[in-house]
Amino acid sequence: LTIPGLLRAAVKAHGAREALVFPGQEVRLSYRAFAERVDALAAGFLALGLKQGERVGIWSPNRLEWVLTQFATARIGVILVNINPAYRVTELEYALNKVGCVALVTAARFKSSDYLAMLRDLAPELATATPGQLQAARLPALRAVIAMGEEAQPGMLRFDDVARTPDVAALDAIEATLDPNDAINIQFTSGTTGRPKGATLTHRNIVNNAAQVTARIHLTEADRLCIPVPLYHCFGMVMGVLGAVSKGAARIFPGEAFEPAKTLDVLAAERCTACYGVPTMFLAMLQDLEDNPRDLTSLRTGIMAGALCPVEIMRKVQARMHMTEVTICYGMTETSPVSFQSFTDDPLDKRCETVGRVHPHLEVKIVGEDGAIVPVGQRGELCTRGYSVMQGYWDEPEKTAESIRDGWMFTGDLAEFDEQGFCSIVGRVKDMIIRGGENVYPREVEEFLMSHPKVADVQVFGGPDEKYGEEVCAWVVPERHQEVTPEEMRAFAKDRIAHFKVPRFVRIVTEFPLTVTGKPQKFIMRDKEMELQG
Ligand code: ATP
Ligand code: MG
Repeated sequence: LTIPGLLRAAVKAHGAREALVFPGQEVRLSYRAFAERVDALAAGFLALGLKQGERVGIWSPNRLEWVLTQFATARIGVILVNINPAYRVTELEYALNKVGCVALVTAARFKSSDYLAMLRDLAPELATATPGQLQAARLPALRAVIAMGEEAQPGMLRFDDVARTPDVAALDAIEATLDPNDAINIQFTSGTTGRPKGATLTHRNIVNNAAQVTARIHLTEADRLCIPVPLYHCFGMVMGVLGAVSKGAARIFPGEAFEPAKTLDVLAAERCTACYGVPTMFLAMLQDLEDNPRDLTSLRTGIMAGALCPVEIMRKVQARMHMTEVTICYGMTETSPVSFQSFTDDPLDKRCETVGRVHPHLEVKIVGEDGAIVPVGQRGELCTRGYSVMQGYWDEPEKTAESIRDGWMFTGDLAEFDEQGFCSIVGRVKDMIIRGGENVYPREVEEFLMSHPKVADVQVFGGPDEKYGEEVCAWVVPERHQEVTPEEMRAFAKDRIAHFKVPRFVRIVTEFPLTVTGKPQKFIMRDKEMELQG
């Protein structure tokens, strides 16, 4: 099945049902009406001369235009490139050039950021360009900028004009030539361990994964799924949008970016039955609920992903948000994304301490450094194989060959299975510290240091050491209005954890270097530590 094939099936089975709601944009469309809007935009893309296999970027928060662009590009076999709305000029330039985007669909602004001004900085040629025929020194491949918003912009096309093209006759013939194994989407990884890599995904990759993810939460056409997570990320666009379409469910978008109060209002007003989010989003919603109760009795299920969920939050999500069937999952951009997910009736402790059990139609294994499968209960690198493994990293053959060997995706994550097949993620392979032959798992040391009352947050990583090969380093953020010293931290650890796990270097900091998605970047801390230690 292709992405347009998926939408066609939904229109056939559920044409009159509600497909998507953007309360903020006053949009409410049935599956049939949505498909018509998609076609009118796809025809507009064709009229601009966009061709199968070419790349089109989208740089926008959650808006109707995002979802329309997602399906309209797929309808004509154009590869959609998700660009993080938090990117700024330098990152935008890198992403667009890395994959050679010929067009960019862009929001006019988001929060305090003026996207169009940033684009004019990057491509001053826009001021005098004929719309659709840009030639810009810093963006050599880019021909067209398609801007959302009311006003016409110099050198840019208006989204609403492009999206109103009536001549849809050619679309079906093009769709007939699409192959489910064609690349259709490039998503950049978060950049936690280095520069973001563009994972190239096919129709088959993401359509099937979306269907599996929503099958596990028993989503049906009667469901109303609330999507407060960003669309540029696979959580929103694959698990959310494609997952809902695969079941004929309604997609409810509470706003351009996550706001706890607004999301709760929409959950209640729209009688949503399912909701997605990362643990911190649920935490913020639970806090808001304490002061302003809402009727959330329509809620049943959902997905919490991206990080481990403390059991306290999980309990409250079940009790106060009525999401008794909430599931956890593990995935990565390169595997479309999900490979492990809990079942809706798994015991609470399994839902909090593990990432659940493997999805159907996937093979998984955990291997040691020698590449051999380790016994149950032992740690090693998690590998997955099957339909969901990406085609490769765009224009990075070496990195692709390193990560995908013999069809197996080497995830770079350290994991462990229990007897029942529940999988626990214990950290990243790259982050494991080998100190004088002893393995130190940063996560374990982090959890220990967090138990110190004055510590708000901590990151542990390995720094180079002549004697031991590597030494344990810790960066510590103290609680507000508290002071701690490196000596205090080391003394705290000294008699409570094994001597080789005690951080030799402790640095007190106010914050960590973070990716634009908010993940701490240990590789930057490591570099900094080397610099500071000389
Ligand atoms: P990069 O690959 O650019 O360094 P990244 O790996 O953080 O960045 P993503 O593909 O967005 O980029 O994130 C996938 C990673 O997130 C996984 O490899 C894993 O380390 C982590 N992860 C995902 N789900 C979970 C989970 N449920 N529990 C713990 N970690 C998770
Ligand atoms: Mg990664």
